[in-house]
Amino acid sequence: MDAKNRQSCAHICLGSNSVGDVTFCTDCGVVSVVLQYMTLRLEANAFLELDALLGSARTRLLTLAQAQVDELRPHSWQSETHVH
Ligand SMILES: [Zn+2]
Repeated sequence: MDAKNRQSCAHICLGSNSVGDVTFCTDCGVVSVVLQYMTLRLEANAFLELDALLGSARTRLLTLAQAQVDELRPHSWQSETHVH
């Protein structure tokens, strides 16, 4: 990391919530996903790919979580989980 370069970088905050921040460097074209213990640095295109991946994973997870909620209703989880 070149200190001079870093000073010239203009970081725009793209978003922020309880798990971290996402910033975009207009000079490097790099998106930084800053989490509590780690930072991911991705080119914009890679970030968009990651976003698409997370989006589909999110949909899948919510579907699975909903299925589990159904399975965990009293008296159904032990006997019916793999019966369908
Ligand atoms: Zn930069």
